Amino acid sequence: MSNCIVCQQPGIKEFLDLGETTLANKFIKKEEIGYSEPMFPLTVGFCENCGHVQLMEIVPPPAMFDHYLYISSLSETLKNHLHDLATKVVERCSLTSDDLAVDIGSNDGTLLSGFLKHGVKVLGVDPAANLAELAREKGVETFTGYFGEETATKLKAEYGPASVLTSTNSFPHIPDLNDFVKGIAIMLSDSGAMFIEAHYLRDLLEQNAFDTIYHEHCSYWGLTAAQHLFNRHGLEVVNVERMPLHHGQLRMTIQRQGTSTPTAAVMQMLADEKEIGMDKLSTYEAFAKEALKLKEELNATIQKAKAEGKRVVGYGAPAKGNTLLTFLGIGPEHLDYIADRSPLKQGRYTPGTHIPVVPAEKILEDQPDYVLLLAWNFAEEIMGQQSEYRERGGKFIIPVPKVQVV
Ligand code: ZN
Repeated sequence: MSNCIVCQQPGIKEFLDLGETTLANKFIKKEEIGYSEPMFPLTVGFCENCGHVQLMEIVPPPAMFDHYLYISSLSETLKNHLHDLATKVVERCSLTSDDLAVDIGSNDGTLLSGFLKHGVKVLGVDPAANLAELAREKGVETFTGYFGEETATKLKAEYGPASVLTSTNSFPHIPDLNDFVKGIAIMLSDSGAMFIEAHYLRDLLEQNAFDTIYHEHCSYWGLTAAQHLFNRHGLEVVNVERMPLHHGQLRMTIQRQGTSTPTAAVMQMLADEKEIGMDKLSTYEAFAKEALKLKEELNATIQKAKAEGKRVVGYGAPAKGNTLLTFLGIGPEHLDYIADRSPLKQGRYTPGTHIPVVPAEKILEDQPDYVLLLAWNFAEEIMGQQSEYRERGGKFIIPVPKVQVV
């Protein structure tokens, strides 16, 4: 890839190389071990023209999203968050049964089922056919496919314009951003609003969350680059909020330019991003140094436990866990298994590193000495669920933002 996916100018500067990795969500079956898994370079760069942080090489989306194992409703925290978002949007936009809400990257329909409760018409868009089935069971009609100019034109002709568009956690997935935003400009009603939630680049930098970098996320969003992108298509970010969910999120409200005046929060965030150097390559080079330091510390912690004859396992098999395992060189010789609540991952093996994924109950049956918490963004929720393990003397290793044994 040579040109920036936001401003389409050449000259992106690479600042972090996480090595060659497999696709982070491609958990494999036992019989697939030993066969070659596709590997792709995982390198990140910064565009000095528009400030956008992005992957240097992009994997075609169908390889990652046509069958998807991440299900929104399996995390209580996330489910509550999405239902809360639906209620807020219904109130803020005074939506009625005449309005249509379209969710892009609608997953299993969790967010839209929140809109349904308020009587709003809904439509999901998601490329994963397996998830569309789960959504339909919730009464959420879902178009299976990718969103862009062509899909928007088709859906608008069939369903009319959308009063509200939402996208939670899928905005970083989109390689053809200009086509995607053209689609938004088509689908959105004149006074309509789009609500986007995505990881916030500032949080990623402040938390050393290098493991949230994997092939699915071709973008790492700051407001400066996002505003640049929307402005190219007659849209603008009119409000922003930072939220603690996952590892820190940015919620943006987008409308047609001139519909409403951007809030002071927008101006403040743009100024803050400049202030902390998010417009400078040197900031990202410093982040890359921190990632390497964390790798050393974490490897030392695990090696020490193994040297003492302790048993170490993992908890949580999120996609980002695979960036961490690969970058650190951790395999089944370090972790006996990884426990996870998702039935779609249990019985499978981590891509590339081949650690077995087992049901969450295994932790208590087994009482290992240490549990490496790969889903560290849900640390509080998981440690709450596993309080008995800790009461019996078990310890968690939290890898990010800094190595902690608790
Ligand atoms: Zn750019």
